[in-house]
Amino acid sequence: MASEKNRAELEKAILRKVGEAIGRFRMIREGDRVAVGVSGGKDSLTLLESLLLLQKRAPINFSVCAFTIEQGKFLAPIQPVGEYLRGRGVDWTYVEDAPSLHLLTEQPDHGCDVCSRFRRRAVYQVARDLDANVIAFGHTADDFCESFLRNAMFTGRTSALPAITWSSKREFRLIRPLVYVTEDLTRAYAANLGAPVIPCGCSQKTGTVRRSIRDLFAELETDYPFLKENLLSAMGKVETSRLLDTRFLELDEVSEESGFFDDEQQLVTLQSG
Ligand code: SF4
Repeated sequence: MASEKNRAELEKAILRKVGEAIGRFRMIREGDRVAVGVSGGKDSLTLLESLLLLQKRAPINFSVCAFTIEQGKFLAPIQPVGEYLRGRGVDWTYVEDAPSLHLLTEQPDHGCDVCSRFRRRAVYQVARDLDANVIAFGHTADDFCESFLRNAMFTGRTSALPAITWSSKREFRLIRPLVYVTEDLTRAYAANLGAPVIPCGCSQKTGTVRRSIRDLFAELETDYPFLKENLLSAMGKVETSRLLDTRFLELDEVSEESGFFDDEQQLVTLQSG
């Protein structure tokens, strides 16, 4: 009984955030067929369950199907996930991507850029075969925040991930409905569902930039629990006049309204403080 209550609370929290993302970015529209990429992990499973629940409650009609691309990275057979999904009546498609498996043999140390290029091609093909016009990915609030920091600190760009975008030629709408859902929620929800979770070998890597940023978050969040919420909010409130991209700056006129003098004052205060 207690676990049921827990699940209901988790579902409520997750659906509120997924609903917010879908509404804000107009991710799903009347008549859509949404293909969910199931990676075997807690996040994509949460995404799939959320969309299935929303499908029953939404004022619009859309259908949901799921697929998994085998690239040879799972640490255990993915079939239990498929059996679980099919047992719940989910239309699940499994595709072994021969070029990816070949790549793994030929170039075992290949980078993420090659791997994701191969995956993208396979994903588009399976979505085409499934007659889907929307592809949903399970990237979470954590992924958006990490990507935001990684890009700023290691590539010198202010960007994260697209919550919504289109494939080239606009064949598919690509959506990330878990943008506001943190992984503490997906972890608890997947555990509560009792669904099999199959890790990807890459998730075990240590010493990576991603791992360092995760550790940084974990340390800071003990004192600042709303860190990710604030970062997500920052991504949605860009003050271009206070950044350094000259495409967005009025170089000929700097007015008092721009906050120039306020910032000068702050600087003086900081320096003398
Ligand atoms: S982390 Fe692993 S599975 Fe993911 S893109 Fe990189 S190589 Fe591929």
